[in-house]
Amino acid sequence: MIRRLGLVKTSLIDYPGKVAAVLFTPGCNFRCPYCHNPELVQGPVPEDFIAFDEILRFLEKRRPVLGGVVITGGEPLLHRNIGNLLTAIRELGLPVKIDTNGSFPEVLENLRPDFVAMDIKTSFSNYPRVLSPGAKAEELVEQIRRSLKILIQSGIPHQLRTTMVPGIVDEKDFDDIIPEVQGADSYLLSGYRNQRTLDSAWSDVDPYNPEVLEAVAQKLRSAGIPTKLRNN
Ligand code: SF4
Repeated sequence: MIRRLGLVKTSLIDYPGKVAAVLFTPGCNFRCPYCHNPELVQGPVPEDFIAFDEILRFLEKRRPVLGGVVITGGEPLLHRNIGNLLTAIRELGLPVKIDTNGSFPEVLENLRPDFVAMDIKTSFSNYPRVLSPGAKAEELVEQIRRSLKILIQSGIPHQLRTTMVPGIVDEKDFDDIIPEVQGADSYLLSGYRNQRTLDSAWSDVDPYNPEVLEAVAQKLRSAGIPTKLRNN
């Protein structure tokens, strides 16, 4: 159950085309070694997190200047009461974008957020690189495939996204990724920032040169997938 959430009051980059507030949920079922939110993944819940009711009061007050709300994490969809939060925000008249790692397809299908950003961490055969030790990679990959299918077939506006982390994903992985993501609305490729990583060894990993990201973007575009680049 989520009782308290992190809050960024205003963001211009997290909900495409909208001024948004961003809410952070604690906890994640993945262990990406390069994760930039280690405190959310490992716990405890940060002290500056704010109670659910107080967040709703804030959103109500800010409603006139907000175009939407982003719920990110951690992994928002692992919380049983995430639907209550989404409903309460929609009752304020604000659309909701969810950021997800894609491993909870049933929750995604039931919630039908107004926009979804879903991570494609690497080619599916390499997913064990981002999972907790002992996680059942095959089952999780199957869940992610189901989430992809739901997004592509349901009409829910969405963006797939990959952070280009050396050692996790490379240009060649996209030979396997592209057939899986055919029909996606859009794709965002982000450069890697080697700061504040879950595994401190990943702070020593240098990002790819911009040419590598451009080559991957071209590969996606040539396959008919609208692709944007964000170099951090
Ligand atoms: S990067 Fe996202 S999916 Fe990976 S551990 Fe961090 S919060 Fe979880």
